[in-house]
Amino acid sequence: MDRAEAKQWIEKTCGRGWLYLVDEIFDKVPPGIVIEEVFQKWGHLHVTYSPYDEAFESFLFDIEHLSAGLCEICGKPGEEKMHDGWSIARCPRHALLPLNRF
Ligand SMILES: [Zn+2]
Repeated sequence: MDRAEAKQWIEKTCGRGWLYLVDEIFDKVPPGIVIEEVFQKWGHLHVTYSPYDEAFESFLFDIEHLSAGLCEICGKPGEEKMHDGWSIARCPRHALLPLNRF
């Protein structure tokens, strides 16, 4: 998955709030590492890649935690909420907006 595809996917399934995090990830991909997928899971931004890299793993861990505290729609501070059985990251203003899943 390249940067454009990842951003398109996150914008479609979540919103625009995390797009700069996607940029951040692609800016820091170490040479030789391939991003397989970027997606939302349990209110966090998740990335799968190969091969395994310890420093990149810990960078992604930080991004993941950062994403959980940022509204996936607008990028403002938010928190994890349950919505129809899904865990999502939303600010108070967007907390009750319907899910945008597929
Ligand atoms: Zn919001």
